[in-house]
Amino acid sequence: MKSYEQTFERVVGHARETALWVTTESALGWDERTKMPTAAAPYRTEQITFLAGVIHHRRTDAELGRWLAELSESPLAADPTSDSGATIRHLKRDYDKRVKLPQSLVEELARTASVAQHVWQDARARDDFSSFREVLGKMFVLKRAQADALGYTGSPYDALLDDYEPDESTANVARVLAELRDALVPLVAAIADSRRSPDEMILARHFPEAAQQRFGSMVAAKIGFDFGRGRLDVTAHPFCTSLGPHDCRITTRFDEQFFPTALFGILHEAGHGIYDQGLRTEWHGLPPGEAISLGIHESQSRLWENLVARSRPFWQHFFPMAQQAFPALADVELDDFFFAINHVRPSLIRVEADEATYNLHILIRFELEQALLAGDLKVADLPAAWNEKYHEYLGITPPDDADGVLQDIHWAAGLVGYFPTYSLGNLYASQFFAAADAELGGLGKQFAAGQFAELRHWLGEKIHSQGQRFTAAQLIERVSGKPLSHRPLIEHLRGKLAPLYQL
Ligand code: ZN
Repeated sequence: MKSYEQTFERVVGHARETALWVTTESALGWDERTKMPTAAAPYRTEQITFLAGVIHHRRTDAELGRWLAELSESPLAADPTSDSGATIRHLKRDYDKRVKLPQSLVEELARTASVAQHVWQDARARDDFSSFREVLGKMFVLKRAQADALGYTGSPYDALLDDYEPDESTANVARVLAELRDALVPLVAAIADSRRSPDEMILARHFPEAAQQRFGSMVAAKIGFDFGRGRLDVTAHPFCTSLGPHDCRITTRFDEQFFPTALFGILHEAGHGIYDQGLRTEWHGLPPGEAISLGIHESQSRLWENLVARSRPFWQHFFPMAQQAFPALADVELDDFFFAINHVRPSLIRVEADEATYNLHILIRFELEQALLAGDLKVADLPAAWNEKYHEYLGITPPDDADGVLQDIHWAAGLVGYFPTYSLGNLYASQFFAAADAELGGLGKQFAAGQFAELRHWLGEKIHSQGQRFTAAQLIERVSGKPLSHRPLIEHLRGKLAPLYQL
């Protein structure tokens, strides 16, 4: 028993040291995307490549593998939901996956992703899919090789999905997303047929950046993002990253001619940040102190952004303050503002999509990338397949590939299996929120009074502080009492949108 404990301490020490390297890499990455002068780019690439090599070397350290093999048979691993059990299970799984991938494949994937992103950028700027075809085809061949090397029981997609949504299966995601699609398509069509629509121009008046920065920070602090352990900066593509147990960085971009961009962006990233800030700091860098999956992470951002900050009670509290901060809103009624920030309209671009149609954009990508990986769809036929699905699900057809199949960087970057985590985030968010609302007895009243602490503490206790002790599927059942379902999201959307559009 004693020797198991010593081995466990060695593993913990090893992982904590790896976390020092990882957070150092994150600090350089954050700087690269926010403050770094452009001329510094080549040396920064060298620094980050060097650190990535060190980290990979540590995570595939044969000695670590032996320790984990020994521990996985020990009493410390008996309960997979204990701190030691979760640590051993996750580190062993990570180790086993990494050593299965041949070094040559890892390098080829990194090289191809680097080339493909440049080619993609150029192809998109020139609206020329044909110039992107070859490297995209190569990427999918490599991703298939990656899946084959990792192994899978169901479809090759399972092996890739596992990197982003561990323990989840393609079949289960496909089932839930198909149910979501069958309920969403008629809802979105009914909204499109409705004669009601908000005055969106009230959101396109002048909103000075400095006032947006103050207001956004104030609201983020009010919902519970701790600026003593984090900060907000400006970037073209907003993100959230943690550089240590008490250092969470979020970013946003400002559009003086469109109010929702920065505010909902800030609250989205603050939601990610509140999750990171709610992790147990004593387990920093170890599975009990880390987020479960991208989908669960996204659920926390979507919950604050959509379930909380796009609700009417939230604005009952904040709208008078917004009117003070922005003279452009002085003559606007709360109801008109509320309708405008919840407008649903099928559109071409995923990142600009509203809460309801967003998931249809994801479904299209999820279905197409599975077909590409399985070899059922040729890369040459991808633009036509893309446009067909947009017509089928959203009733619109992209006028060109730049605003169609070329709009996302993900496939060029090798992120195959990543897209469904966005919709899983929306589904988890609604299911968590419905459970919180039932348990805490009507959150709307609290929001209207500017109170968010009770919800935040509930999320902290049920989700954030659990780290990786449970799988996402286990967590959703523990928290809501039911397996993952499309229903809470559909009920949330219908509940909000039916009165607005008089459906
Ligand atoms: Zn996010």
